[in-house]
Amino acid sequence: MRWAISPVRTDGFAVTKRILVCGAGGFIGSHLVKRLKAEGAWVRGADLKLPRYEASDADDFIVGDLREQDVVRRVIDQRFDEVYQLAADMGGAGFVFTGAHDADIMHNSAMINLNVLDTARHQGCGRIFYSSSACIYPQENQQDPDNPNCVEASAYPAHPDSEYGWEKLFSERLYLTYGRNHGMQVRVARYHNIFGELGSWSDGREKAPAAMCRKIAQCPDGGTIDVWGDGQQTRSFLHVSECLEGTLRLMRSDFTGPVNIGSEEMVTIDGLIDRVAAIAGKRINKNHIPGPTGVRGRNSDNRLIKEKLGWAPTAALNDGLERTYAWIRSQVEKGRADAS
Ligand code: NAD
Repeated sequence: MRWAISPVRTDGFAVTKRILVCGAGGFIGSHLVKRLKAEGAWVRGADLKLPRYEASDADDFIVGDLREQDVVRRVIDQRFDEVYQLAADMGGAGFVFTGAHDADIMHNSAMINLNVLDTARHQGCGRIFYSSSACIYPQENQQDPDNPNCVEASAYPAHPDSEYGWEKLFSERLYLTYGRNHGMQVRVARYHNIFGELGSWSDGREKAPAAMCRKIAQCPDGGTIDVWGDGQQTRSFLHVSECLEGTLRLMRSDFTGPVNIGSEEMVTIDGLIDRVAAIAGKRINKNHIPGPTGVRGRNSDNRLIKEKLGWAPTAALNDGLERTYAWIRSQVEKGRADAS
């Protein structure tokens, strides 16, 4: 499916910045399109699917499989000023850590990156952004829940705890080689647990904040929810609005990265639940059960982003949780109303 408004005047001059967002049907990609449109850019989105919860703000949206070279040639049929490559086969712990999707994760995401990057090079695209992940960091450095080490330089010797992390590391290196060998303006960020409205919350790909918001929204006051692991594993979570701020600042800076884009406000998973329960105004009991949990501790280290961009996220976790819980509760209520 496709609709288009030409970004080029009949006299051939571009009227505005032309931007491509790959993965524009996904969570971060759909927010990014909205933000770029608000800035006045002409935006093309590309994805396997349209956004699930709201119509895309893109001027032009190509629904297609970016593993296919002919699709990518259609998507990148011109020089874009900026390309944001967010498309990936990914999900939360229930998707990434079971092992059942490992081959798909590695094959699909690597194919997308190989195709998109090379085609962007041949079209002479101005800048290309790649969304890597905190999942690239070595598992040995994340065993102490109170003191994980996720400084950018600690990525090597590499030992990610998932194939998802290995593919991200490979693709980081791929982008960096195109920067070195082909003179491309490449930017690489390592996102740390991005959450917010319009994200997966019930399709098996949801991450911890969305899963906890859903469980608590569905749970009666005084009820019990299941929690994977002992709840003492630590993480930090960044609301999508600050993720976009960091992404755009990095893209328009002269720093290549890789650099962390994440929050330094670390919480335990039990602590996350307590916060959401307080926002919901409910007493919630926790039933800890075996399940995929990933590393014991993870937190963003923001020294490099502060040094290079003079900026780092500052919003409190609770601000983002309040917005996300309100949105997921509305989705749960809508589901109940539709079912009755
Ligand atoms: P998402 O799953 O919502 O978005 C990814 C999009 O890629 C989806 O809409 C999906 O349909 C699309 N896609 C997958 N395979 C495709 C294909 N073959 N062709 C075309 N499109 C395809 O994920 P997100 O949370 O928005 O994440 C965006 C990017 O950021 C991903 O690369 C992800 O790995 C990375 N990242 C996200 C987080 C996070 O916490 N959300 C953390 C670290 C890194």
